[in-house]
Amino acid sequence: MTSIFKEGVYDTGSYARTGTLTLGGIQIPTPIFMPVGTRGSIKSLTSEDISELGYELILANTYHLYLKPGKEVLDHFAGLKNFMSYKKALLTDSGGFQVFSLASLFKFEDDGVRFQSHIDGSYHKFTPASVIDVQRSIGSDIMMVLDDCAPYGSDTKRLELALERTHRWAKESYQYWMENPNGQNVFPIVHGGVNESLRLRSLETLQNIAFPGIAIGGLSVGEPRPEYIRILECMAPYLDKQRPHYLMGVGTVVDILEGVKNGIDMFDCVLPTRNARNGQVFTSRGKINLRNESHRLSDAPIDPECGCKVCKTYSLGYIRHLHKVKELTAFSLSTYHNLFFMQSFMEKMRKSIEIGNFRDFYAHWKNLFGS
Ligand SMILES: [Zn+2]
Repeated sequence: MTSIFKEGVYDTGSYARTGTLTLGGIQIPTPIFMPVGTRGSIKSLTSEDISELGYELILANTYHLYLKPGKEVLDHFAGLKNFMSYKKALLTDSGGFQVFSLASLFKFEDDGVRFQSHIDGSYHKFTPASVIDVQRSIGSDIMMVLDDCAPYGSDTKRLELALERTHRWAKESYQYWMENPNGQNVFPIVHGGVNESLRLRSLETLQNIAFPGIAIGGLSVGEPRPEYIRILECMAPYLDKQRPHYLMGVGTVVDILEGVKNGIDMFDCVLPTRNARNGQVFTSRGKINLRNESHRLSDAPIDPECGCKVCKTYSLGYIRHLHKVKELTAFSLSTYHNLFFMQSFMEKMRKSIEIGNFRDFYAHWKNLFGS
């Protein structure tokens, strides 16, 4: 099988690196941030906006799309990309995390997990093969295996059980996927909570299978940042350099900095879009709360250094007003700016690695976005 990842430049003082992901003929520079389009839409934005912002890899959620619109609609429209008129690359999670966090009820069985929909209480079952089938209907370029996400704070016994289940399901998923890869890729998910030896065992077991990439789950799920960093640092030397490394559900500026420093290539998170809808935007001077009284008469843009169309056109005072009266454009303008910010933040980070300046880049942004 041809590799989907090509290594670029390595930082000399850390595990940070650049690279290129090739998906469906599209070449995507890494490290990359992927915005989240849970139900086939990046909330408040159009597919044209996504393309204008230059995003070439976005994420959608299998659990949500399986429930609505469901497989029949996805198959009828020949996949999600076609359905939403989005032409670039797509990654989907397996739905496991949502079953454990959203479904009103779930129960493990040897071959999968049975659950009740959070929408209407109906009963469903996910197995390693069935979630790949759903992701085939969605038509994602990168699919995820079904995993067992033990919650933060689980004891060692529970973490070991999650590992055994996750590894067994990953092997089944690999075999099932290999029967008909059909241009799609699948990544396994490393678990082990904040236990270093379990993390390393999980990483080694899963890297022994010829998956095209490797994902890390169960981080940024409530653990204090020093724990998050400790686990990333313990895995960094052992990550297979030939494959892309995806850290799931991570996306604050500081968490991304720590991730890249420890060899991570791919991130996704709802924070830049969710925070935007709540009036929090990211700027070259740090975070800003758009609802603050101090912006009432401001005719300056959100960020004078930002080149996005929102900052070129609208004042902080106007966008504050839209948030205060809950106008729908408050969501779309703020989200657009935040995703433009994330895109340019990642671009500057790649540049800093290329020119051997990652250390200064890291210190500058960590200082601005400290917490
Ligand atoms: Zn802007």
